[in-house]
Amino acid sequence: MNEKQRIVIVGGGSTGWIAAAALGRQLRKDLYDVTLVESSEIGTIGVGEAVIPPFITFIRNLGLDEQQFIRETQASFKLGIEFRNWARRDHRYFHHFGTLGRKLDGHDFLQCWLKARAHGDTTDLMDYAPAAVMAKHNRFYLPFKFPQESPLTGAGYALHFDAALVAKVLRRHAESRGVARIDGRIESVEQAPDGRIAALHLQDGQRVEGDFFLDCSGFRALLIEGQLGSPYESWRDYLPCNRAVALQTVGHPDITPYTRSTARGAGWTWRIPLQHRTGNGYVFSSDHCSDDEAIATLLKAVDGEPLHDPRVIPFRTGMRHNLWRKNCVALGLAGGFLEPLESTAIHLVTRGVQFLLELFPHDVRGTADWSELATEYDKRMRLDYEEIRDFIILHYCTTQRDDTPFWQLCQSLPRPDSLQEKMAMFAERGEVRIGGDDLFKVPSWQAVFTGMGVIPRHYHPFVDMSDFEQLKLAMRGGRTVIEEEVLTLPSHADFLRDNCAAEPLPAVSSR
Ligand SMILES: Cc1cc2nc3c(=O)[nH]c(=O)nc-3n(C[C@H](O)[C@H](O)[C@H](O)COP(=O)(O)OP(=O)(O)OC[C@H]3O[C@@H](n4cnc5c(N)ncnc54)[C@H](O)[C@@H]3O)c2cc1C
Repeated sequence: MNEKQRIVIVGGGSTGWIAAAALGRQLRKDLYDVTLVESSEIGTIGVGEAVIPPFITFIRNLGLDEQQFIRETQASFKLGIEFRNWARRDHRYFHHFGTLGRKLDGHDFLQCWLKARAHGDTTDLMDYAPAAVMAKHNRFYLPFKFPQESPLTGAGYALHFDAALVAKVLRRHAESRGVARIDGRIESVEQAPDGRIAALHLQDGQRVEGDFFLDCSGFRALLIEGQLGSPYESWRDYLPCNRAVALQTVGHPDITPYTRSTARGAGWTWRIPLQHRTGNGYVFSSDHCSDDEAIATLLKAVDGEPLHDPRVIPFRTGMRHNLWRKNCVALGLAGGFLEPLESTAIHLVTRGVQFLLELFPHDVRGTADWSELATEYDKRMRLDYEEIRDFIILHYCTTQRDDTPFWQLCQSLPRPDSLQEKMAMFAERGEVRIGGDDLFKVPSWQAVFTGMGVIPRHYHPFVDMSDFEQLKLAMRGGRTVIEEEVLTLPSHADFLRDNCAAEPLPAVSSR
């Protein structure tokens, strides 16, 4: 056989174009044909505009220029997430990206902070996290440009962006590397006698054959569910929200370098500031709030003029039992969904692409059995999904709020054993055990636990072996340096204007 191997991507949302850009970069054009089929008539989901730090690595690995990407996608920087009213009403905390203090005399920073706290210290743990301090003062500068000895090098950052513009940039990148695009609505799918997907039939009569298919068709899950019947595992018992209402508003000149998540009566609202507009939404439980009530809550919460009518988006929390079946891998919303509280969906797409490339079959033509590769792929993805699921549940189940039936329910939700163990260990001694490949590192767990008011009963006894006055001095010194250095930085808005001001758009997009 010497024909090229044919890979067909179904769907041109963020997922489809992320996959296309990565495959276009990775696969040799003389060996592989990559075709993406999307329907501009159906369109994309049009949300998903905040990401987490690994996305920066993803765009760099594609060979894209970061500043140009920011300009073209109307992006702003994101240093973390501000959580309002989650632990209790009128309370806020910050989940930052990057480091949180540094080891003192060999002790984990949190243990030193816990001892200081036990002795009356009232400093906020986030005063020791450079990204959180930058966010508090609305300042920004690229952390990798600080001198090596500066604590600000420890800040992590990600982006907020316009999802439609991201798809456009990635499409250009993919097409320039040979990915072909077909605009057409898939009406039916043809399967080979052994159950593999053989071809797509489009409304205009075209037949698109392929050897290997990526189902990036969003919640429709055309191939993985519609054709291959991979069951969906619901996690609604753990996470009760099942709908969102989304609304874009006119932008705010003082663009905050963080996402805001504000807990409401039956869920939470997001606020994502971009250069040209602000994205807003309310994620809620339909058992506790009607669509009309959710829309009214969101309209009251936003701080700018709406650019379109609010749009309701139902969703199912969970993941597909098999993401890889036969000659098809489901990515993005077709494969699973966790509510966007920690902006992790696009990350799961890039992980899916990464694992697929790592496990790519020797030859996708013919009828070889890849069940071992598929099993391994599913295993890796499940670990990621479950880790993120547990981290999101943590935000709900540690609330002290009981002022609405929704929050009362959250206090009594079942918890997976994996999370229960982490919670018990943290409550006792502030220990967090994570896997080597986990997305959320120890400082993230520490930030959310303590932010939600879970303060360990004890600090590690070995902290008592160090001179406490010296520890306190080092803590104060670290805090002061971070604060002083942050106050010399430009505001986020100034940094954007001077370094990556967005390119003018023909007109403000409104979906
Ligand atoms: C309320 C909400 C908020 C979110 N916020 C975030 C966030 O802050 N951060 C984050 O990382 N993620 C977020 N997400 C997830 C994010 O939106 C998705 O991961 C991302 O947009 C990718 O979607 P997708 O490409 O898988 O699906 P879609 O955007 O739905 O794309 C599906 C594609 O399949 C095509 N298609 C479907 N049927 C057919 C057919 N019959 N024929 C031809 N083509 C077809 C469509 O035309 C489209 O191109 C959020 C999701 C929701 C629901």
